[in-house]
Amino acid sequence: MHITSAVAALCIGALAKAAHANTSETCCSALGATTLESQVVYPDSAAYKTSISSYWAENVQLAPTCILQPRTAQEVSLAVSTLVAADGGVCKFAVRGGGHTTWAGANNIVDGVTIDLSLMNRTTYHEKEGIASILPGSRWGDVYETLAKYNVTVAGGRSGVVGVSGFLLGGGNTFHTARVGFGCDNVENYEVVLANGDIIEVNRDSHADLFKALKGGSGNFGIVTRYDMKIIDDDKLWGGIVTYDNSTTLKHLEAGYHFINNLENDPYASWIGMWGYLSVIDQNIVVNALEYTTPVAYPAAFDNFTTIANTSSSMRVTNIWNLTQELGQAPGYRDIFVTATFVNNLDVMKRTVDIHNRIPEEAKAGAKGDDYNMYTMIQPWPKLFTDRSTEQGGNVLGLDRFEENMFQVLFDYAWKDEADDVLFHRLANSALEELTAYSKSIGADNEFIYLNYANSTQNPLSTYGSESVEYIRTVAKKYDQTGVFQTQMPGGFKISAVASEGKDEL
Ligand SMILES: Cc1cc2nc3c(=O)[nH]c(=O)nc-3n(C[C@H](O)[C@H](O)[C@H](O)COP(=O)(O)OP(=O)(O)OC[C@H]3O[C@@H](n4cnc5c(N)ncnc54)[C@H](O)[C@@H]3O)c2cc1C
Repeated sequence: MHITSAVAALCIGALAKAAHANTSETCCSALGATTLESQVVYPDSAAYKTSISSYWAENVQLAPTCILQPRTAQEVSLAVSTLVAADGGVCKFAVRGGGHTTWAGANNIVDGVTIDLSLMNRTTYHEKEGIASILPGSRWGDVYETLAKYNVTVAGGRSGVVGVSGFLLGGGNTFHTARVGFGCDNVENYEVVLANGDIIEVNRDSHADLFKALKGGSGNFGIVTRYDMKIIDDDKLWGGIVTYDNSTTLKHLEAGYHFINNLENDPYASWIGMWGYLSVIDQNIVVNALEYTTPVAYPAAFDNFTTIANTSSSMRVTNIWNLTQELGQAPGYRDIFVTATFVNNLDVMKRTVDIHNRIPEEAKAGAKGDDYNMYTMIQPWPKLFTDRSTEQGGNVLGLDRFEENMFQVLFDYAWKDEADDVLFHRLANSALEELTAYSKSIGADNEFIYLNYANSTQNPLSTYGSESVEYIRTVAKKYDQTGVFQTQMPGGFKISAVASEGKDEL
């Protein structure tokens, strides 16, 4: 019998696939053979289905061979040790915090084990120490709800549904950043499970190098099983959502530009500018999220926004739990986030909204589905944020090498119909490319890419600056000598994917 090379290649491919599937089944069986047995769930179980359907973006709802749902750090440790030892170290696994990353494979896996931390979701307030201990599967809404009983809060997410873990490991932009730095700057202690199964406490005095690296270095070092965060007294704010007609755009951009440059005069103020096209109502509106992190109405810092005629407003004094229930986006869509950072420059802001206003026309011409939302968000990223981080001890984001006030753009597109995946990816990437090229042409570009908003096509860790990159690389190698979190846990942004400057890669 004569076998052509194409048929041979097909046979080899099929065999390799079968071998891979067998491996991941062996990995699940290895977990099931330990005391973790009752925590391993398979596709035919309700727990598995609930876990998969609770990912925020539909396009990341992959089907792992099994899901492990640990309840304690000890169970996470046993899982890591088992997966490292089983089948000669070939088991692949993913780690899921809240599951809000929008690109497939960051927090889930095909042919492997997903460690879903969602059962580890308790928040405990230690009043005497001024610390909240937060378990890694928590969502910010639950954290705020628990802390509201004591009228305190922490510097966390601005949408209640968002997961604590990914947010804090990537930085974490909060309503309070201008006062206390990023979310990560407010973590006083981490409990971490390392690749060898050790469970360690990580803080300024113990494993200080890892303590710093975890502040922006994402999942490159181990699995965090507890965050001890500094408390902010008083969880009351004046804030809400204000909507406007798109014709008011220029006024918002001028207000936003001055707001960023003046934030140091009143760091209690927080602004997110959103331009949103919603296909079901065929409307393109401007939305401001204005938050003042103490209960004072109409502070002068917002005057340039509050004098613009609005079409609706929910501004009120309330607590952070209530505000973060309001600020969010619907789950159940397919999503893409792409992001870039720019020098605070009015022309770049204007071009951002010009692009936003034009792109829905391209979507209308090409979309097969009729339900999609296209948001373009402008967020302050002033030097003040970095100064606050430095005051708290610093992180690895590498922002201290920039002197200018900056702002960040997030193109955030959501659509229902899978047939539109290619279209919306193309539109988001072309919007980003055009804006980046324009910013370069007028010298208002900046290389920093914020990890928590980045797409898989971007390489945020490579934009932290060579000093931070080598620091993360060295710390990752020290605490994970065999590179388990680079190869066995392939999801997320990996330091091994960042080119080395004349040094060995992991
Ligand atoms: C609706 C919405 C609102 C948002 N609002 C904000 C905002 O206000 N500010 C902001 O800065 N960002 C915001 N983001 C972005 C958000 O910070 C990121 O999506 C972040 O990753 C969410 O955390 P998660 O735990 O849900 O992520 P996941 O997708 O679960 O995890 C992110 C990455 O971290 C890894 N990981 C998760 N848990 C652990 C762990 N315990 N140990 C080690 N590695 C782990 C995962 O493997 C994955 O690679 C928002 C996103 C959405 C969708």
